[in-house]
Amino acid sequence: MPEAPAVDGEADLHTHSTVSDGTEAPAELMRQAARAGLWGVALTDHDSTSGWAEAAAAVRDTGVALIPGMELSTREGYTSVHVLAYLIDPLDDALLEETARIRESRMTRAEEIVRRIGRDYPLSWDDVLAQTVEGTTIGRPHIADALVARGHVATRSAAFDGILHPRAGYAQPHYAPDPLTGVRLIRAAGGVPVLAHPGTRGAERVIPPERLAKLVDAGLFGLEVDHPENLEAAKPRLRALATRFGLRVTGSSDYHGTGKPNRLGECRTAPDVVEAIIAEGRGSAPELP
Ligand code: AMP
Ligand code: FE
Ligand code: FE
Ligand code: ZN
Repeated sequence: MPEAPAVDGEADLHTHSTVSDGTEAPAELMRQAARAGLWGVALTDHDSTSGWAEAAAAVRDTGVALIPGMELSTREGYTSVHVLAYLIDPLDDALLEETARIRESRMTRAEEIVRRIGRDYPLSWDDVLAQTVEGTTIGRPHIADALVARGHVATRSAAFDGILHPRAGYAQPHYAPDPLTGVRLIRAAGGVPVLAHPGTRGAERVIPPERLAKLVDAGLFGLEVDHPENLEAAKPRLRALATRFGLRVTGSSDYHGTGKPNRLGECRTAPDVVEAIIAEGRGSAPELP
């Protein structure tokens, strides 16, 4: 075994590029990470690893380490649950099959949402495609951007608060496996699974211990406690759960470029936790400067 690399700075372990719903290309994201003074960054586009090569190619110039990752969509009933997947094998058959199915469903679901919105507001599928690049994992943010371009709303966030809010009746969910299946798939692909933003719905709606126990048994590594959208009231409960179940705690910005207010590096993960992730990841390797 080669010795694990020393991690001598903090990392932002949750970011998005134009491969999903971020607004910056992977290489630009790496340049911004250098300006933010980060030791490393994980690129975690939704249900896709296609930004890895471009980000890895920018490591030498930027001096920023890359932890290859993905944010896997899962669903528990009507609740969307995101699981960060670090250092997975990007060619793992089972994971590839599942992410292809999710992306396919994201596409048909987005077309259906656009059809419904189109009855009330001038909006076409081409308007949405104009907000993507080849192979983008499509989501509501791209529909939001199309609504902004059409002048129906001022910002992405305004679209989420209005036309794209479930209450408005246009949005509908896409296919996703349940979280337990997601965690198992990630471990089977050599990856390290971390529950993303588990406190956005407040302290009362943090995952119950008996459900978390099942994810831990399946190999869950950690909880993303420091996240701009986790509510403060939820954090003590999350830290207590981490201690009780022996989970590591990560901090990350969930940067989406100009698509969200989250600032790159505003939440960070400690070097010893990054080292532990690198030590457990078997499916791929970090790209170091
Ligand atoms: P979807 O992938 O279609 O389920 O849409 C969820 C994505 O929308 C999340 O990954 C966020 O990046 C984004 N999102 C959710 N709420 C907002 C918001 N208020 N403003 C901007 N982006 C948002
Ligand atoms: Fe997103
Ligand atoms: Fe997420
Ligand atoms: Zn995210």
